[in-house]
Amino acid sequence: MTDLTGFRVVAVHAHPDDEVLFTGGTLADLARRGATVTLLTLTLGDEGEVIGEPYQSVVDNGVLAGLRVRELEDAVAALGIEHEFVGGAGFFRDSGMEGSPAHEHPRALVNRVEEAAGHLHGRFAELDPHIIVTYGPDGGYGHPDHIAVHKAVHTAAGDRRVWWAVFDRAQNYAGLDTLTEPEGWQKPDRDYLDNFTNEASETETFVRYPLDDAAYAAKRAGMAAHPTQIWLADGTVSRTNPVSAFAGIGDPAVAPVAFGLSNLLVMPLLRAEFYHLGQAGTAAAAPAEGAAGLFAGLER
Ligand SMILES: [Zn+2]
Repeated sequence: MTDLTGFRVVAVHAHPDDEVLFTGGTLADLARRGATVTLLTLTLGDEGEVIGEPYQSVVDNGVLAGLRVRELEDAVAALGIEHEFVGGAGFFRDSGMEGSPAHEHPRALVNRVEEAAGHLHGRFAELDPHIIVTYGPDGGYGHPDHIAVHKAVHTAAGDRRVWWAVFDRAQNYAGLDTLTEPEGWQKPDRDYLDNFTNEASETETFVRYPLDDAAYAAKRAGMAAHPTQIWLADGTVSRTNPVSAFAGIGDPAVAPVAFGLSNLLVMPLLRAEFYHLGQAGTAAAAPAEGAAGLFAGLER
């Protein structure tokens, strides 16, 4: 399955940067091979933290959202995919963490899941995707907006096939073992990794999506497009984050590059992405790698 012309894919994510962290290599590869790939993003990530000293004040000034719109535009250009904000940019607001004032905001996504599902239902009807990619019931790592996206997608998906993007636990453990953290960073502890990763189970349909050089390069460029959120530990600098960090790379075949978020916990940028089957849809799914796995049994 090399040419994917005629297949349509919709990825639904909560915040700018989730598209590259969870699914960037896959979306870039599918698009490069001819599939129509549309990213639907729900919020602007208004409540995020910021990496890099020059832009720290944007958090208090409430202008982070605007910066993240621009970062997302750069990222989707790097991935070569289509993009829309659901309801328009800023229609749904980042809900922050439970207990925070942002969580009570009337425009917060968590307080409007049914409304989000209504918008998604309309977009799915028009875009008519063969597969939808989003998060599992835990939102990938528990963020309330990710869980809200999961619920809205499943309410709106009808009988379409839905895949859940996961950080595979065993692969991330193995990747982390090959890395040395940059100076001043730390390795995540087991609790953090277990919260951040989903264990692959042999009892459910599971797809490993290997990233070839082009897909890996696109993902890396997409991550570099989000400098307020992602710090590539390969010496990359930007006007947003002018400080370089270098991780020690022990096995480039496993993790050629490492990265961190604002918590400065080093993570491997693996040569594959991973998906659990959320619902099979009208055709039975069969285990296979890459695009053949995601589209198994579906007619274009
Ligand atoms: Zn997110």
